[in-house]
Amino acid sequence: MSEAFLSLAWVVAGVLFISSLRGLSHPETARRGNGYGMVGMLIAVAAAMTAGEVGNFGMLVAAIGAGSAIGAQLARSVAMTAMPELVAILHSFVGLAAVLVGFASYLAQDAHEGSHALLLGEIALDVLVGSITFTGSVIAFGKLRGSLSGRPLLLPGRHALNALAALLCLGLAVVLVRATEPVGMAGDLPGGFGALLAMTLIAGALGAHLVLAIGGADMPVVVSMLNSYSGWTASAAGFMLGNDLLIITGALVGSSGAILSHIMCRAMNRSLASVIFGGFGAAPPKSASGTPQPPPGDVVETTVEELAAELRAGTEVVIVPGYGMAVARAQHAVRQLVDALKERGVRTRFAIHPVAGRLPGHMNVLLAEAAVPYDLVLEMDEINHDFPTTDVVLVIGANDIVNPAAQTDTASPIYGMPVLEVWKARRTVVVKRSRGAGYAGIDNPLFYHGNTRMLFADAKDGMEKLVAAVQAPAA
Ligand code: NDP
Repeated sequence: MSEAFLSLAWVVAGVLFISSLRGLSHPETARRGNGYGMVGMLIAVAAAMTAGEVGNFGMLVAAIGAGSAIGAQLARSVAMTAMPELVAILHSFVGLAAVLVGFASYLAQDAHEGSHALLLGEIALDVLVGSITFTGSVIAFGKLRGSLSGRPLLLPGRHALNALAALLCLGLAVVLVRATEPVGMAGDLPGGFGALLAMTLIAGALGAHLVLAIGGADMPVVVSMLNSYSGWTASAAGFMLGNDLLIITGALVGSSGAILSHIMCRAMNRSLASVIFGGFGAAPPKSASGTPQPPPGDVVETTVEELAAELRAGTEVVIVPGYGMAVARAQHAVRQLVDALKERGVRTRFAIHPVAGRLPGHMNVLLAEAAVPYDLVLEMDEINHDFPTTDVVLVIGANDIVNPAAQTDTASPIYGMPVLEVWKARRTVVVKRSRGAGYAGIDNPLFYHGNTRMLFADAKDGMEKLVAAVQAPAA
């Protein structure tokens, strides 16, 4: 392929990626956005393969075939609730690929030419960010999967340790960039191999430590931050390989991940620095016996029939969906409930917290899947002031995002996080299976509030029974 055609292919693919991001910014256009991204990637891969730099076509096709088959199978089989951990492990692949490509570029360079300082600098940057992304994402994967504790690891002097690791990495990068002569001890290896290897290991330890120090409640920001890191890693690899499209695509992913991190931080009332350097989202305060202290008092239970009667009697209902709705796959039954209430003249809207579920936009995706009209789905800021005039709020499988302790308990790990103020409604009904805690692992005083009733049920089962009860002729 000629140089001009290659450049044209990069530009077309780049435009398609930008259109893809634009499309993905709204549920109505998301499918089209995904399509743009897929076509862009197809063009990019075809152009890269025909650019004349591929030595072994057979190996490349086999690798792409195997990777696509595994990817397609994973995408088909992954549960929606397991998406965050899948995303985290995919970020780790980007980091690992960047480290491997960095080492390959390093080994392929001609060490005797002093002009390679720039390339060595690009290799250092690529491997540094790649290694941090790789280990950070592996730890995030473990935490999201539950294989690692969600509690932050707070080593004494951890900020000093991080600073020391960062300084060491910078120092080793300088050693690498200045090394233009082969090192005798290392045989044929170009100069600076020891520095590159040591930098990779220290950066890996730094990435793991940074994510280990972050508590469960801050994990949403970590996922988007690692997304951003993976983009910058790809961009650094683009500079190293002289590939414009990789630079553009990496920058798009890096900046959109950074914007998302900023939005998530704002939603959780955290500064990005406080999340990056960890320590927030710590474990709940323990009692002397070592178990979390439940709030005083007891919960009041309700029944499907009582709830149906309250819903039918109201005019304004708000549904707050959370992670439990996703686990139970209750969104279709919830949609039927909205229809049943509409037939009885009850207006039902949805209140979406920015970190509801386990990935950004999780609830919007599920409600779109169930064909809930978009104009009924409101963001937290749009609906929080409406709760005092709401007859019934139905909290379905949500917990942390409706926890009043975020406003009242300075010792709470989620203190300061804006929450949906559902307790201000005339009646709040929480549908979940037990009094169990949510992702942050803390008790929820909402369950014990005077206006609150608990409907202990699986979300799907409970909603299906509720739809039948709402539709049944009034006694
Ligand atoms: P939570 O994790 O706080 O609570 C979910 C609740 O759902 C649980 O208390 C559980 O209670 C209930 N539940 C589970 N299964 C079912 C079921 N089958 N039927 C009914 N209820 C069920 O979820 P929220 O959405 O309120 O909050 C999200 C949390 O996840 C926040 O802490 C956020 O920081 C974190 N997070 C969010 C990410 C994001 O990007 N959105 C990413 C990573 C973490 P029970 O067992 O009693 O039924």
